[in-house]
Amino acid sequence: MTTETIPAPESARSGGAPADFVAAATALLGPKGFTTDPDIVGPWLTDWRGRYFGRALGLATPANTAEIAALVRLCGDHGVPIVPQGGNSGMCGGATPDDSGHAVLINTRRMDAIRRIDRAGRQVECEAGVILQTLHEAVEREGLRFPLTLGGKGSATVGGLISTNAGGTQVLRHGVMRAQVLGLEAVLPDGSVLNQLVPLKKDNRGFDLKQLLIGSEGTLGIVTAATLQLEPAIAARAVLWAGVDSVQTARALLLHAQDKAGSALEGFEVVPHHSLHAVLDYLPTARAPLEGDHAWHVLIELVADAGGADALPDLAEALLVSAFEAGLVADATIAANEAQAEAFWWLRDSVAPAERAQGPAMQHDISVPVDRMADFIDFAAPLFEREFPGTTAVGFGHLGDGNIHFHVLAPKGVEAAAWERGEGKAISHRVHDLVTQWGGSISAEHGIGQLKRDELARLGDPAALHVLRAIKAALDPQGLFNPGKLV
Ligand SMILES: Cc1cc2nc3c(=O)[nH]c(=O)nc-3n(C[C@H](O)[C@H](O)[C@H](O)COP(=O)(O)OP(=O)(O)OC[C@H]3O[C@@H](n4cnc5c(N)ncnc54)[C@H](O)[C@@H]3O)c2cc1C
Repeated sequence: MTTETIPAPESARSGGAPADFVAAATALLGPKGFTTDPDIVGPWLTDWRGRYFGRALGLATPANTAEIAALVRLCGDHGVPIVPQGGNSGMCGGATPDDSGHAVLINTRRMDAIRRIDRAGRQVECEAGVILQTLHEAVEREGLRFPLTLGGKGSATVGGLISTNAGGTQVLRHGVMRAQVLGLEAVLPDGSVLNQLVPLKKDNRGFDLKQLLIGSEGTLGIVTAATLQLEPAIAARAVLWAGVDSVQTARALLLHAQDKAGSALEGFEVVPHHSLHAVLDYLPTARAPLEGDHAWHVLIELVADAGGADALPDLAEALLVSAFEAGLVADATIAANEAQAEAFWWLRDSVAPAERAQGPAMQHDISVPVDRMADFIDFAAPLFEREFPGTTAVGFGHLGDGNIHFHVLAPKGVEAAAWERGEGKAISHRVHDLVTQWGGSISAEHGIGQLKRDELARLGDPAALHVLRAIKAALDPQGLFNPGKLV
């Protein structure tokens, strides 16, 4: 983490604006809600991956929606750009300010109230700063669950998840964040509060503004609260780990599992041999679930509510037996207990940090149509290793969603920054070109941020880009909301 100081930029200081702004923001929010202390602000000026380093006029941590609205109006009056921030676990530098030092960071961490859990209606209303893991635990106590999870759940906030339209490992059954949001409250760039928290099953009063804000990465508004859909708590789960000989077989196993397990199938993740071994090197206490080497590993999660819990072990067993008989699985095991199930997920969730520990890599969060992803991996991985000698290309993650994290690891011994700027950049262009040719997306779930903004401009559909820019200009004519991100 950087501990850079946050001096007012020279140009602006001469106009007196930053000092006026800082004084007014401090008066508005008090010392608990606004600080320029470099030791407090510093850790929030870099992204989770450590790729982007910014500066800021100060860090605002408002206590409620009214304070955010007042602060946004103040920023408008002073022409101060705003960078919204939740848990800062995003993967695309979306929550990191630029290095001009002109912007203010608005972090929602103090807005962490769970306002209401409606057991009968299976809904929760909470503030934007609620951390995903806290949300899981709170609704679990009521016999419910929020059906979206991801590796960054200890940091990611509801506001961040909404603003990036996050995915994760349960999308196969429940869909992305967009599908979980029933209502939304947000402060818009003019300081007005859009209150659509009351969920309506039917509402045809024009554009769905709530959906417009979901995935807008802080460029159109600051999400302050949401009403989210809940599911009954699961009464049982079965977590299976299988070794298969190819990604094509993994794909066949997915179809098989969908056929045999139906709606009980909640997760289907793939981990190639290289990634599993990176994790085992990274986590000295972790153990491989299976003896022997396998080209690909598949993690499958089946779940049941109270009505189906007793039958779940048999369903898991039958799924594996039939997969063996069909020649799909070389070896497999079912977690014997909850601790082992967690250990399997720990391996899967550790792939990203383990690969990060191995050295520089270009990471691509891509999707193609689900039925083409196995072909894409088979085509692309050898292509990149051939075209960029010394690299290792791996694809892991959400095969069931047609979404793979396609990482190209640098040749051993290269200097990270120089490689990323040179060959690494060429690799990313090539990956994005290829994905676009295959009819896919250069950002399946992590968003665009500052990481992929130029690539979106280069490869995006011109008609779609025109609409994105027109909406941005209409809602944020001063261009103060998260400048340099997304559009
Ligand atoms: C180990 C690990 C695993 C991960 N796995 C996944 C995964 O499987 N799937 C996935 O989708 N993501 C994953 N992520 C990425 C990350 O957790 C998500 O993008 C998450 O949604 C970010 O939430 P956050 O609160 O940390 O947002 P931040 O990182 O703080 O911000 C992300 C973006 O949202 C904006 N923003 C934040 N809060 C608000 C708000 N209240 N209003 C308006 N804009 C706001 C920011 O300006 C920024 O553009 C992972 C991250 C880690 C560290």
